[in-house]
Amino acid sequence: MVTTSSLGFPRVGVQRELKKTIEAYWKGAASEADLQDTARTLRLRHWTMQKEAGITHIPSNDFSFYDHVLDTCALLGTVPPRYNWRGGNIDSQTYFAMARGNAQVTAMDMSKWFDTNYHYIVPELQKGQTFTLSSNKPFDEYQEAKAAGIETRPVLVGPMTFLIIAKKTADFTDCRCTLVPGIVAVYIEALKKLQSLGARFVQIDEPALVLDLEDRYKDAYKTAYKMIRAAVPDLNIIITTYFDGLRDNTDLAVSLPVNGLHIDLKRAPDQLESVLPKLPADKILSLGLIDGRNIWKNDLRASLDVAEKAVKALGKDRVIVSTSCSLLHTPNDLDQETTLDPQIKSWMAFARQKLAEVATIAKGLNEGRGAIAEALKASDAVAQDRKTSARIHNQAVQAAIKAITPAMASRQSPFPVRRIKQQAALKLPTFPTTSIGSFPQTENIRKARADFKKGSIETAAYETAMKKEIEHVVRFQEKIDMDVLVHGEAERNDMVEYFGEQLEGFTFTRNGWVQSYGSRCVKPPVIFGDVSRPAPMTVKWSSYAQSLTAKPMKGMLTGPITILQWSFVRDDQPRSQTARQIALAIRDEVSDLEKAGIRVIQIDEPAIREGLPLRRADWKTYLAWAVEAFKLSSCSVKDETQIHTHMCYSEFNDIIDSVGAMDADVISIETSRSQMELLNAFVSYKYPNEIGPGVWDIHSPRVPSAEEMTGLLEKAEKVIPSDQLWVNPDCGLKTRGWAEVEPSLTNLVKAAKGLREKRKKAAA
Ligand code: GLN
Ligand code: ZN
Repeated sequence: MVTTSSLGFPRVGVQRELKKTIEAYWKGAASEADLQDTARTLRLRHWTMQKEAGITHIPSNDFSFYDHVLDTCALLGTVPPRYNWRGGNIDSQTYFAMARGNAQVTAMDMSKWFDTNYHYIVPELQKGQTFTLSSNKPFDEYQEAKAAGIETRPVLVGPMTFLIIAKKTADFTDCRCTLVPGIVAVYIEALKKLQSLGARFVQIDEPALVLDLEDRYKDAYKTAYKMIRAAVPDLNIIITTYFDGLRDNTDLAVSLPVNGLHIDLKRAPDQLESVLPKLPADKILSLGLIDGRNIWKNDLRASLDVAEKAVKALGKDRVIVSTSCSLLHTPNDLDQETTLDPQIKSWMAFARQKLAEVATIAKGLNEGRGAIAEALKASDAVAQDRKTSARIHNQAVQAAIKAITPAMASRQSPFPVRRIKQQAALKLPTFPTTSIGSFPQTENIRKARADFKKGSIETAAYETAMKKEIEHVVRFQEKIDMDVLVHGEAERNDMVEYFGEQLEGFTFTRNGWVQSYGSRCVKPPVIFGDVSRPAPMTVKWSSYAQSLTAKPMKGMLTGPITILQWSFVRDDQPRSQTARQIALAIRDEVSDLEKAGIRVIQIDEPAIREGLPLRRADWKTYLAWAVEAFKLSSCSVKDETQIHTHMCYSEFNDIIDSVGAMDADVISIETSRSQMELLNAFVSYKYPNEIGPGVWDIHSPRVPSAEEMTGLLEKAEKVIPSDQLWVNPDCGLKTRGWAEVEPSLTNLVKAAKGLREKRKKAAA
């Protein structure tokens, strides 16, 4: 018989119960017992839900108080020395200190889990790293489920994935592969223990198998699993891969001596053809058919077509129907969405609904399509509805897309020409100063926005409140003599949501929360249809701000790739096409800002780097359409209008050419924390336009002195010519308070002025 599985379930609970309890615990308002209670309740609820949905292989140990990679560090005892851990099981205090740091010690690093928006705690591998089993979590959870009458398939992050996504400390210069015997020994111990507790199947997540792997890692994979197999010969181990196809790692993956392999057929449907003929006869294939990364209903007929191929080749007993990856990346339960438009809702499925989809496919395979005729009919109807709905398909948008010409994605003149015209128009000094957009989001501002949303204050009252904030921010910037001003973004709750709410083709959920890191969740907008802009979105605020000052006021927009990247995107057309539609909407906004007299416009693209595909071979295609989308959004303006962009990080090495190709007149990036080290990318690549390397780490409450910022600028001058340099903070100031913003920005202007003087003297 075809069986079913889910690779993992969202942990936080439909009302974010876990988040609330954990945060209360951190504040001392909830006890350790409260924490464990909430966790147990949620686990039981989720296991029961999966059992009731008819899932054969229900995951355990997919739960986490913070992050599953951190849990793996705890399991393996890889605790960096600074936490003074003395061995034994890792307690909550040490665990949360590693996650978040405390007054004595800094947190471990966080990084994006493959190409998702989920952040994992980056394991640190020391020279001479040892591994000891230091947590009972997988065993406890397995037994907890068993006691509740639910047989589970424990999930572990695989040893190779763990090693590959870890970072090495500076003194550890050997290959991380040298750690294989040590780490594998602990996995063997854990697997044996699970087996002794009654587990028959274990899921080992090895998503690193979809990455470009050096040969030494491929060899290490073989060694690791050979050791595991030899030591634990008769436990059913399923290796899971997801987020991309196996490609050149196919032979490796099918050859690993385990009992089954899971592949992601949502991201890489074509890999079925290459995996099927290669799969050894003793192996099970787990088909990742239900999208664990998005909120759309599955196309049942299409999934059956694929799954039937696998059943035909392998037989029913060797096929598992599953989610593409863990459902961690989807919201919990669509039934909780009471305010969504019913038609759009009828197209969607959250984690809970996806379980039913998994079960239905398996039923169709086991009993024939006739047995699921109703479900097939319903699924076909949704597919048909989405194909034809006027809510999704907008003739005008498609015509506009067809009418795109290459000229639209290119400025009128090359940068050197624009630069002269901009200098004449804007008359900025050298080392011009600006900020990234937002100013402190005070209690007052949040309250005014919330009241307005609730309808408890009138539009007029709300606008008056916002205008007051804008005026305050403008007067402050004038007082300290900034060169290019911003209006402060008081009216914005979130840089993507703000635009999504005003664009056609977007909708918003009430409880569509997805874990981002630790207790933090995001509620991504849903792009369901063609995107268009019914009316200007920011012009009123920017013009008002400009009316208050003679200095240039910077218009502030979010770019197409960032909007795309931080939303649930429709799956019925390529992402590149959706990006183009958003780009045209932003382009209209840019033109309207220019018409309204705004001479400097910033289009933020902090997410362009994170959209980079996992495989190098796919980078070029992605970067081409990402850059095109940015240029479509920014190139409608005349030469005199100055386009800025902002990217938070500056791990640019991989994409520096494309950043240059975006051809923004000015780019601001985050560099202060790394002491400008991140500018290294600019040593060999001569960035052609102007650039503002951040000189104030806005993630820290510390106020930097003018001298300190001068020092950073002088470092920057070593790699970037002075006449290309801008002076600005690392990022927006919305998370900071005025008490830090006032002195910091004052010092920032002082630093810029000081350098201007110095350079003037040096030239004279
Ligand atoms: N303009 C935005 C702000 O200042 C940019 C935020 C970001 O880069 N994430 O808040
Ligand atoms: Zn930023």
